[in-house]
Amino acid sequence: MSKERRILTDEEKKIVREKYGKLCYICEVSLDGYADNEIQYDHIFSHASEITGGEDLDKFAPIHASSNPAKKNCHLGKGTKTWYDYKEELRIKSKLKKITGLKDLCKDAKQCYFKKISDTEIVLNGKHIQLYNQKLFGKEDNLYFFDDIDVDYIENDNLIQLRPLDEDKILPLTLHLRGSVQLLPSIGRLDLKENKIKIFDGQHKAVAQIIGNEKKSIPCIIFVDPDISSLQRTVFDAHSKFLQQRYKRSHIMDKIAEQYKAKVEQWKLAHGDFPYSEMDILKGESKAQRRKIILASILEELSSCGAFIDGKYNFETDFVDITKKKRARHNPMLWDNYERLVSLLVNLEPVSETSVLPNNYRADEIGNLKYILGNVYWYAIKDKWNPDNPDSEAHQLAVRYFYDKVFEVYVPIIVKALRFSYEQKTDRALREDEGLCYREQFSEDLKKRFARIFERLFRHGIWANPMHKEIFRATTSGPIADLFSKEGIDYIYLAKLE
Ligand SMILES: [Zn+2]
Repeated sequence: MSKERRILTDEEKKIVREKYGKLCYICEVSLDGYADNEIQYDHIFSHASEITGGEDLDKFAPIHASSNPAKKNCHLGKGTKTWYDYKEELRIKSKLKKITGLKDLCKDAKQCYFKKISDTEIVLNGKHIQLYNQKLFGKEDNLYFFDDIDVDYIENDNLIQLRPLDEDKILPLTLHLRGSVQLLPSIGRLDLKENKIKIFDGQHKAVAQIIGNEKKSIPCIIFVDPDISSLQRTVFDAHSKFLQQRYKRSHIMDKIAEQYKAKVEQWKLAHGDFPYSEMDILKGESKAQRRKIILASILEELSSCGAFIDGKYNFETDFVDITKKKRARHNPMLWDNYERLVSLLVNLEPVSETSVLPNNYRADEIGNLKYILGNVYWYAIKDKWNPDNPDSEAHQLAVRYFYDKVFEVYVPIIVKALRFSYEQKTDRALREDEGLCYREQFSEDLKKRFARIFERLFRHGIWANPMHKEIFRATTSGPIADLFSKEGIDYIYLAKLE
């Protein structure tokens, strides 16, 4: 991390530009018209194992980086992803924009040539495939086969409705399927009138494999000329009453926290009962995995430390909703939002100081986090959130505070305001990856400043203004962000000193 970045000479920059055909590595659009200071040469392949050297030219690529808002800056939005992942994300998103579902991706399938040899064998496009039979009620035949089918031979089934495409799922699903076997195939039927294969279930996986992973064939289960009305009913039932309860995110976090504890036990077996650091335990894990484990441990610590707000509440158990139901929530804050808020406030990197050392601030971090969460309670929940009286104005106000998209807009603003306020008070800039709460206990003066930020946000006139009611209910964050910026609610306003 502290590795010195090599500065390329003009000649080297030219070589790198030529190598990429004078195109930006990220968006693959020309670099023409971009001055030297509007192009950044980034180290796009990161080899964590290489400690020194090896910064040879091969690893650099040119990227648009203009500070002129009318020009491209392909750095924005990368975050902590690798360049490759970020480029992939942009590629997949732009492809998804052009389609509404599998129906646009696989519009008109090629006709198949097939011949049923027996009840246990079919020939499809020249390939012999095993047939299976699922007899219903012991007599009705339902022949099907399993194969990797060339995407040219599949199309969307218009008779049996696919579930609508949820774009947010495609990207994580794509990345997941790159590293894991696809457990469930897409499901379709062989239509004997048109001689075509039509997919009626598993559209997300199909789109993720075709667009995300650029697969030319996908694993499918295909029923041979089934009864369509009974399939329609089956698909409907499968996605309503028989739908398995999905793993709740909070449970996944519990599992990860458990894994961490198991690793600690292993370490102790190998090294004895000595003080250990997070780094000792997590050395072999990927960066993303380490961050996940640290977050899970912090969340676990917070939930298991009993009541810490007003002497009677535990933030997670009393105010976080883990049922994932968007309507009629019993607790105000959605789990994902809780997780996100905490992750933005803590140090997610493993520390090398053992827990007995004074410069290990994990315990203080929990204390500081409790203080911040206490403010959320104090200004946004207390005397407001009251599901027993759902129509009351106070409850409606609290509902607005915790709408998913609204929260998405103001959480980064609040976090930035808190950090800014800390920097002002201490006259010291925080590193980007430096968690605000990971330090000695906040001083009383800092606490006052922080509380004022929450007060400014949640007591702002914007919330109760009937004109904005509809905007707060928006299903995308755009209009809400616009409203906040129109009203001048930014981190500078929130952190302003009297
Ligand atoms: Zn670009």
